Amino acid sequence: MNKSVYISLGSNMGSKRENLAQAVELISNIPGVKLKNRSSLYETEPWGKTDQDKFLNQVIEIETSLPPRELLKELQDIEINMGRQRKEKWGPRIIDLDILLYGNEVLDDPQLAIPHPRMRERLFVLVPLAEIGADLRFPDNGATVREVLSSVLAREGNRGIERV
Ligand code: AMP
Repeated sequence: MNKSVYISLGSNMGSKRENLAQAVELISNIPGVKLKNRSSLYETEPWGKTDQDKFLNQVIEIETSLPPRELLKELQDIEINMGRQRKEKWGPRIIDLDILLYGNEVLDDPQLAIPHPRMRERLFVLVPLAEIGADLRFPDNGATVREVLSSVLAREGNRGIERV
């Protein structure tokens, strides 16, 4: 059975727009994956480690027959093939791929946690996700993406993120 999966993409090195386009292309070429939808691109302030270049972020929806860990492995292979080097946590990166939601599954494993543990605090994930999936519900607490985004915006305002 195919599952609907949402993936976050981010890049803050080199030609960011091309990096995202290449990653989307490579993801849609994974056997057992079909690209369903993609958000606009958003330019965002760096998170965590702030003395680095701005990020370009996007969220895509795919449909896949791959189990979660096999999908993660494919995404990690793409990160490595695109030249990502894991040097510093939250440092600059050519491409970062995270699984946000995988159908209604809830996984609580450090190697693969779904829903992605930090996605509910991050406008650079919530804003593009809401563009293509505002009515999606988090499988653990039933809140919609729209509701979670509204509460973060009420708390923090719409700072540091711009649709491009
Ligand atoms: P990062 O450096 O932010 O890309 O973190 C990568 C690490 O997070 C990898 O070791 C993954 O196994 C782990 N991880 C845990 N949950 C997820 C998820 N939902 N999507 C992608 N990576 C995850």
